[in-house]
Amino acid sequence: MIRFNSWGLALGLMLLAAVRAGAETSFDYGLEPQAVADGVHVLLGRTEHFTRENGGNIVNTGFIVTDDGVVVIDTGPSRRYGEQMRAAIARSTGQPVRQVYLTHAHPDHFLGSQAFVDVPVAALAGTRHSIRTRGDALNSNLYRLVGGWMAGTEAVVPAQVVEDSTVMIGGRSLRLIALNGHTTSDLAVFDEQSATLFAGDLVFFDRAATTPDADIDQWLHSLERLRAIDFKVLVPGHGPVLRDAAGIEQTRAYLGWLAGALRKAARNGMDLNEAMRAPLPPEFAKIAVIKEEFERSVIHLYPEYELETLAPVSR
Ligand SMILES: [Zn+2]
Repeated sequence: MIRFNSWGLALGLMLLAAVRAGAETSFDYGLEPQAVADGVHVLLGRTEHFTRENGGNIVNTGFIVTDDGVVVIDTGPSRRYGEQMRAAIARSTGQPVRQVYLTHAHPDHFLGSQAFVDVPVAALAGTRHSIRTRGDALNSNLYRLVGGWMAGTEAVVPAQVVEDSTVMIGGRSLRLIALNGHTTSDLAVFDEQSATLFAGDLVFFDRAATTPDADIDQWLHSLERLRAIDFKVLVPGHGPVLRDAAGIEQTRAYLGWLAGALRKAARNGMDLNEAMRAPLPPEFAKIAVIKEEFERSVIHLYPEYELETLAPVSR
């Protein structure tokens, strides 16, 4: 009986290892562009953490087909992703890529840029600066997390800098909206023809927001700006595509709660570990990986809230 069980266990583990090795060695992200509006497509990532199974594909990227080629929004987490994305674009549109915009300098959004080196790649000045100064470190860190999927990936500094503006490409008017708060520089892209808003990581939906470079007050201010836009389709940086403002509302509610919980903990003189034990409100229970992201956010943000409570005393 014992022998049978251990054989069964061994066989199970071997099968599991084989399945994992298969997924890893093919390094196929299985990218399937989904049409979300006329000429607008999204490649949906999983609402998970970075793992060796998902290869870093936890991010939404997208593209817009114009009369003069394709505009790409974010290039994904690795060289392989960028290459597979470009192949998927060619398959589904038959059009060349004309322009790339990067929303911000987080590794899952820009490390696929090597696949687009022959195309103008543009970002806000702050994003360009972050990629220049931290791109290699972000690349190494993601390699540690997802392994061989990253082979051959290098951080490419975008050649073009864009500002808050409206550009016309192949008959489509694209509003480039310069915001911040998730990082120091967050670009949102609004396609006026289809009223599709690519919000980058200013909006997360049913996947917990990440905060390693966040300024919550600025972020909330940016969400107000996005809310004022008359969009029909909302593409969050992570999570499903929406036809309403639910992603903006959810991100705003969570960030508001997060800031309030940290402020309260600091005022009550809690240490970091005590602050981490704050109960998550039931309304956020369905948000993927929220407990882990909340704990990470406490580590990122709590020291500042502690300083904030100390400031009046020291003045
Ligand atoms: Zn991000």
